[in-house]
Amino acid sequence: MRDIEAPVVRLQHVGKVFDANGQAFQALDEVSFDIARGEMVAIMGPSGSGKSTLMNIIGLLDVPTSGSYLLDGEDVSELDRTRQAQVRNARIGFVFQNFNLLPRMTALANVALPLVYGRVSAREREERARAALAAVGLDTKAASLPNQLSGGQKQRVAIARALVTEPSLLLADEPTGALDTRTGSEILELFRRLNEDRGVTLVVITHDAEVGRQMDRVIGLRDGRLVPQILETYYGVVAGARVAA
Ligand code: ADP
Ligand code: MG
Repeated sequence: MRDIEAPVVRLQHVGKVFDANGQAFQALDEVSFDIARGEMVAIMGPSGSGKSTLMNIIGLLDVPTSGSYLLDGEDVSELDRTRQAQVRNARIGFVFQNFNLLPRMTALANVALPLVYGRVSAREREERARAALAAVGLDTKAASLPNQLSGGQKQRVAIARALVTEPSLLLADEPTGALDTRTGSEILELFRRLNEDRGVTLVVITHDAEVGRQMDRVIGLRDGRLVPQILETYYGVVAGARVAA
């Protein structure tokens, strides 16, 4: 069960080996770290460094080949697929680069969608979806279809959808990658506010040094291994702007 004293994420000696045309390929090797409740963390590294593989494991879309993963203190490294999906739906909120909204559904219906899989009445689904839309500043857009919204608004809807189940962890894969700089900054500002007001724990996969700089901490990856000081070493910028500000 959910242990709120435990770190949200605890990875211990996680490895992932893929079979690439009959050859074993080590995509992650001895990856260990914790993410505390209420932390905002970026995962950064060059293309092919293992970011997506790591995100799939943290998001319970894949399992490690070795090592262990504790989510809210519960070992989730060896769950069967059904249980894995249940834990994923209940505890992880996903935000993607291209929003992944359903085009024929209103903003409100998109946000309410994750609640369809739980035991929540239609009326409560609507109330919770409205509250989540309000939390991202889009209460007036409930009836809009995705193609009536700007990129930034679409990403806000996607963030509301990710938060509507009150997950332990918000997992965002390049959430500003499809947005212009100013809109991207607004999304970052929204994450920060959700973190401050609601204690949302955030893991962002990003190529963008500015996004990394604004997180509490950056976890660097290269060739499937953790590398320290990735921002300074590979991106030439100084981390911790948020702390210093
Ligand atoms: P990143 O997201 O940092 O670009 P990935 O996690 O997607 O990196 O990939 C890391 C490495 O693992 C790459 O060399 C990639 O080719 C390999 N890889 C990823 N998924 C698979 C797979 N399903 N089968 C074989 N190799 C894979
Ligand atoms: Mg990737």
